[in-house]
Amino acid sequence: MVAKIINGLKISKKIQKKIKNEINIRKKNGLLIPGLAVILIGKNNSSKIYVKNKKIACKKVGFLSKIFKLSENISENKVINILKKLNKNKLIHGILVQLPLPKKFNTLKILKNISYKKDVDGFHPINIGLLCQKNPNLRSCTPLGIIQLLKKIKIKIKGINALIIGASNIVGRPMMLELLLAGCTTTIAHRFTKNLKKHIKNADLIIIAIGKPNFLHGKWIKKGAIIIDVGINRLKNGKIVGDVDFYSNYIKASYITPVPGGVGPMTVTSLLQNTLYACKKYNDLKK
Ligand code: NAD
Repeated sequence: MVAKIINGLKISKKIQKKIKNEINIRKKNGLLIPGLAVILIGKNNSSKIYVKNKKIACKKVGFLSKIFKLSENISENKVINILKKLNKNKLIHGILVQLPLPKKFNTLKILKNISYKKDVDGFHPINIGLLCQKNPNLRSCTPLGIIQLLKKIKIKIKGINALIIGASNIVGRPMMLELLLAGCTTTIAHRFTKNLKKHIKNADLIIIAIGKPNFLHGKWIKKGAIIIDVGINRLKNGKIVGDVDFYSNYIKASYITPVPGGVGPMTVTSLLQNTLYACKKYNDLKK
């Protein structure tokens, strides 16, 4: 048995085509075009690439995008002032601060200053709280992208044993809330988890986001498990690999996402969907 590969790139292109069509219709009908503002602070090379990809994606579907490249020396107050102005800007419907921020910044404080109505990364305490109460509004992009991938493969995940490895604020924790919402029996493991292999063996679905190249070996997993690889790791030779040892999992799993071309493209697509959602919900319908 070999796994079916979940082609996130293909799925994401299809969704983006639909968004583009919707934007063309909005233009014809004189409706607002979604606008995304992205704030990039400092010189993190990966962040620069992610921001560039977000800009390209916006252009492709016909959104407005505005990128703010700020020096690491900028004060927290100045960043918050920029956010406050963007919160009031009628042409901007989504605001995203690219993470991780340089160490001197208080990330949670900065994120709290984005209006929850424009929080297209889904990290604002109100949006995380709503998801926690089974009433999602703007949902974190990577977990939302993964839920969409799982829907595409049409496997019923209600009641299955899901294991998330990695408990960060941006992936693991919101992923846990999404899987609970989807009805999975959900376990979340992290660097202090004892007996990780026992949890891995018990899981029907594994979502891993730890940032350790090729960490998850196929010999540990249950035969037929679904493996979702969130990791993006650049090796010394320049190659990008995930947190999953691909081949050993591929020959034992039922479904697997590749890196690149799996979860990554879906994260950007969820961001576009969230920006369109925010534009419609808080402007067309004026709630
Ligand atoms: P993070 O460093 O904030 O969190 C890592 C988590 O992994 C922590 O909870 C830690 O406890 C856990 N962990 C570390 N080593 C472990 C181990 N040996 N066993 C069990 N748990 C362990 O990382 P992050 O920001 O969540 O990112 C994780 C990975 O996902 C990175 O490679 C990142 O580049 C990638 N990522 C990809 C996307 C995407 O769109 N595909 C989006 C976000 C992050």
